[in-house]
Amino acid sequence: MPLTLADVYAARARIAGIADRTPLVPSPFMERATGREFLMKMELMQPIGAFKLRGAVSAVMALPEGVGGVTCCSTGNHGRGVAFAARARGMRAVICMSELVPQAKVDGIRALGADVRIVGRSQDEAMRESGRLCETEGLVEISPFDDPHVIAGQGTIGLELIEARPDLHTILVPLSGGGLAAGIALAAKTAKPDIRVIGISMDRGAAMHESLRAGRPVEVQEHSSLADSLGGGIGLENKLSFPLCRDLLDGTVLVTEDEIRHAMQVTFFEDRIVAEGASVVGQAALLSGKLPVPEGLVATILTGRNVDMRVFAHIMNGQDVTIGDLEVKGVPYGA
Ligand SMILES: *Cc1c(COP(=O)(O)O)cnc(C)c1O
Repeated sequence: MPLTLADVYAARARIAGIADRTPLVPSPFMERATGREFLMKMELMQPIGAFKLRGAVSAVMALPEGVGGVTCCSTGNHGRGVAFAARARGMRAVICMSELVPQAKVDGIRALGADVRIVGRSQDEAMRESGRLCETEGLVEISPFDDPHVIAGQGTIGLELIEARPDLHTILVPLSGGGLAAGIALAAKTAKPDIRVIGISMDRGAAMHESLRAGRPVEVQEHSSLADSLGGGIGLENKLSFPLCRDLLDGTVLVTEDEIRHAMQVTFFEDRIVAEGASVVGQAALLSGKLPVPEGLVATILTGRNVDMRVFAHIMNGQDVTIGDLEVKGVPYGA
């Protein structure tokens, strides 16, 4: 095992006071719907609105003195996390993006003090630029999920969960590149070997799910999704998050766009929480019946709240939404 519980404790010390200690709150609705106590880990209350801050701070704080700065090419929650973490350490951050990224995202990352470099018309070109910056300007690239310090940082969620509720039976974890699921499973299972950790993705372009089935990292086609934060590949050269997920996860479940839409409505109307689609796939897996109700106490991670509020308002109003090539039919809540 390349990573151990000691690494997670070391990460906890690095992120203390910046990216830790979110509340764990009950959902009375999910409890009524499933007949099990159901808890939500409120990672969407992190300063950047998503759990990714834990891994980013863990990785940036672990860098040696003398590093010129950090770079990455995520336009989403990882980019925000790296920008925030670099500012906390007084370090330069350069976030590379393509021309296709919406201005609001560029502005959000600039507001955290990062340099934004707009290059080319695809994510691939942005990736090449961040690689070039590592060579020419001495920056260090921070991977969103395939990095030991990032995985250990996300694993601190597992420590907090087990400390708060040693009686936890099952943890439902939104799954993309697998840094979150790997970290949580490592921490939780070391402390409590019989706990179950289930990864949940959308059924369009679930790279880790397909890779686990194939027994090696594979590429999948990318699609637009309400769970946009779960999109993207795991990297054909994946070193850490794939083997950890393979060895530690108890299963994966895929949910549809309609199931995600419904779970977003449930989380808003019943729990009064604004959550992005990626955050509520745990609820979607249970409410759809795709995941049988576990035998005991269940927790899920509400991973982020960085949703386009116009899209969010449409979904809550029961209106149709179009995201890229995806059309999701509107259904009023309770209809
Ligand atoms: C990144 C992200 C995930 C998935 O995390 P991985 O470590 O890539 O599996 C889930 N939810 C949100 C909101 C995210 O930003």
